[in-house]
This record gives sequence, C-alpha cells and structure tokens, in this order.
Amino acid sequence: MRHMPASNPFDTSALSDMGSDDKLREECGIFGVIGVSEAANFTALGLHALQHRGQEAGGIVVHDFEHGFNSARRFGYVRDNFTSQKLMETLPGPLAIGHVRYSTAGSKGHTAIRDVQPFFGEFAMGGAAIAHNGNITNADEIRRDLIGQGSIFQSSSDSECIIHLMARSYQKTIPERMKEALRRVEGAFSVVAMTRTKLIGVRDPLGVRPLVLGKLADGAYALSSETCALDIIGAEFVREIAPGEMVVISLDKGVESYHPFDPKKSRSCIFEHVYFSRPDSILGGRSVYETRRQIGVELAKESPVDADLVCPVPDSGTPAAIGFSQQSGIPYAMGIVRNQYMGRTFIEPTEQIRNMGVRLKLNVNRALIKGKKVILVDDSVVRGTTSRKIKEMILDAGAAEVHFRIASPPTAWPCFYGVDTPDRDKLLAATMTEDEMREHLGVDSLKFISLDGLYRATGEAKGRNAKQPQYCDACFSGEYPVAPTDMISKGFALKAAE
Ligand code: SF4
Repeated sequence: MRHMPASNPFDTSALSDMGSDDKLREECGIFGVIGVSEAANFTALGLHALQHRGQEAGGIVVHDFEHGFNSARRFGYVRDNFTSQKLMETLPGPLAIGHVRYSTAGSKGHTAIRDVQPFFGEFAMGGAAIAHNGNITNADEIRRDLIGQGSIFQSSSDSECIIHLMARSYQKTIPERMKEALRRVEGAFSVVAMTRTKLIGVRDPLGVRPLVLGKLADGAYALSSETCALDIIGAEFVREIAPGEMVVISLDKGVESYHPFDPKKSRSCIFEHVYFSRPDSILGGRSVYETRRQIGVELAKESPVDADLVCPVPDSGTPAAIGFSQQSGIPYAMGIVRNQYMGRTFIEPTEQIRNMGVRLKLNVNRALIKGKKVILVDDSVVRGTTSRKIKEMILDAGAAEVHFRIASPPTAWPCFYGVDTPDRDKLLAATMTEDEMREHLGVDSLKFISLDGLYRATGEAKGRNAKQPQYCDACFSGEYPVAPTDMISKGFALKAAE
C-alpha cells in the first residue's frame, strides 16, 4: 500500500491507484516556461497535462526581478493545489519550472515535502532551481563523496546531488557548472533548470527519458517531458531535445544548443511508447497512439487466435486492442468499462473497500461478454495480480474463453532509470515461463509481443538490432545500457553473458 501523507488527508491518489499496483510507474514529469506573464499558471497547466507521470506531489519555482525566486511544493494533484488564486499570487514572474513526482529511488513510500522538487540552490553568481526526471545510478557513491567533503543534504533524493556538485564547481556561470556536474552523474536524467534569466534543458547522453521544446508567441519557449503539455498551453512543438544536448534559453538570445557529453548512440526508453507517455503525445517523431495501435497489429500477426471479441483493458490497452481488431478482423468491443471518477469517490478508504481492489476501477460489460470467446489486450504484465482479477471478472460474467494478448514483452528485469518497478523476484516473468504464467493467470492462452515486433511497431522495420539496440529495453532484455552501479554494489546480479 502506498504512503498517504498525513499532511494532506484529502489526497486520494493512493485510492485512485488501487488495482494498478502491478504497473510500472513513471516517476516524474518536468516542465518549464520562459517569456510569459504568468509563468506559474502555464507551468501548473503543463504539470496537469503531465499528471499521469506522477501523482504524489508537485512543485513550482518562479522568478521575477521584483520578488526574486519563489516556490511552492505540495502533496497531491496539481488541480487540487496549483489552482488556488491565493497560492498562485505568491508565484509571480515570467520564468518558471515545475515537477510532478511519484517517488524517487531514495524515498519510496516515505516522501517528505523536502523531497519534492524543484530543488533550489544559491550560488555566488545567483540562484538556480532544478527539476529532474530519471534516476542517477551512481548517486550513492556521489552522495558519500560529497558528504565526506562537507555537503549537507536536505533531502533523500538523488537529484539533490546535482545541486551540490554545481555548488562545488569553479566554473563561472550556472550553465557551465551544470555541465560539469552532469558529467559526473551516470544514469538517466532529463533536467529542466532555471536561473534568474535563463531556462535550461538537458538530456542524458543516451536520451533515456524524454524532453521536448515548444514555442509560444513573442519569443516565449517551453520545455516539457511530453508534447501533450505543450498542447494544453497552446505552444507549437519545435523538436525533441537531442540525447546529450543542453539548451539554454533566454529572452535576448533565444535557444542556444550545447553538447557537453561525449556523443553516444541514443537509447531512449521503449516503455514510453508502450505505456508511460500519453497517447496524444509525439515521441521519436511518431504519434504514441499510432505506435500503440501498430503494436496491436504486430501482436495479431504474431499471435492470432480464434475469438468473438477483442477488448482492451482500459485505458492503456485501448490503442493496441484497436490495432489487433483491425488486423484480425475480430470486432472491437468495450468489454471492460473503467470508472473515471473512482479516485474521487471516497475520502478515507477502509480495508474492506481496498479489498474490492480492481472492481472499484474496472467493471465488466456483462451483456457483451456472456458466452463469448474474448481476447483481452493489456499493455503489460508485471506482478500479474490485476490480470488474474480481470480474468476472474470476465469468467464470472460468463465468457466462454479468455485469451490475453500483451502489448509488451515479458517484464523480467527491474528498471533503474526513473521508473518504479517491483524487485526482480516479484516480477512474474522473472520467476515463470510463459506457459507457467498462462497457468498461473488461469487463461486459455497468453501471448506477449516479441521484442522484434515491438521495435517494428515503433518504426524500426528490421526489428531490434541485437548488437546495437536502438532503445533501452532493459526491463525486457536484462541488457542495461548504463550499469546500475549503486544497485550492483547492493548485490543486484546482472544477467549472465550469453
Ligand atoms: S528499463 Fe524499461 S522502463 Fe526503464 S528506461 Fe529501460 S525500457 Fe524504460
């Protein structure tokens, strides 16, 4: 069960997540804007559009020359916090960055308000704030070094290391200090940062986590984890920040681009295409919706089955189910209906209500299902607990057969790049063969898309390049593009070389 912060008794995020505790979770969304009169309001809107990337807490930092830097950090949803006029009036200025979070590696389930980003640091040349999406895989090592040299950490977040490394740099400008700091960290990081006059965006050399640039009228710019947050503020999508690129945006010079790291081949997260990103976002030059629909097409080609209906497990299975139906010719139907408002229904979830689990969120459309052979399309199987419950609900409703088709390969390895994953021994695919999983779930058939099929769906016509994979796919393949140094030192065993 997730921690429900005592300081916010009306936070219903833990309840709204019930029944989806065996999904991988993106841990953060980041946003920044420069050159608009109410940057905090633009940022609140952007963060609201990115809320699917983190519902536990959010924060905004702003600057204007009359009031200096100001910030607000709150637990709960953006819409419940950053809509109050009273609060937003304390955040004036044309420049802002913001962050929504689930929880970072250092403090899972025990978030304190001091862990909520953006983080702020006062340097000799002025203040700077920073918000980070990803995970620094050598953060323990850096933190130990910094504490040994006298740094005093305020939070348990690995992202704070960046601020301390900047503080110790002898470079003369904040962007130069940031470059130097980021060269020391390993892992996945997309960063938005701000000084008094500049908005800064950086992506790690492999570009694991996304970051995009948008343009508004009159020389204003925005940075965001996803394009859907540009749409909400009416910004035009310009381009993705390239892997290993730093952009420094100011009102007088516009967008300046730097490449502070040694060039590497991009390895962006393939799971963004499967699940994390919103289907109305553009990722890698493609519509996320279209990639997911194509995954369904590939799945139907790879693993056809005779059935009466194709039903998505809503909402994330929907585009792949549409693609499966189009390719197979089997009718698409809403066999499971999601209650969109469940998370707002109860204030205090009791144990009895919690036990109802997935039924609170998903309901079977009995009239449609009875007597039918049903293909259920879901985005992933992580622990398998939700899949089992859904199968029971479908059988209770009188389905004749249940066939699972999964829009990702078996998730057999944890992610160490900013995604919350259960320990390896809790991942169904790490402990069972596909046939054992089918038996465990109690379904008539269970098939996952192949890694090659998934790559084809993203536009890689020849599938996965085994020697130089085009994406990070470590949670499926066990091949980590950046060694998870801290985890290895804690005993995590990498996959044996074949
Ligand atoms: S391990 Fe999986 S979830 Fe994590 S970055 Fe790589 S592909 Fe994405």
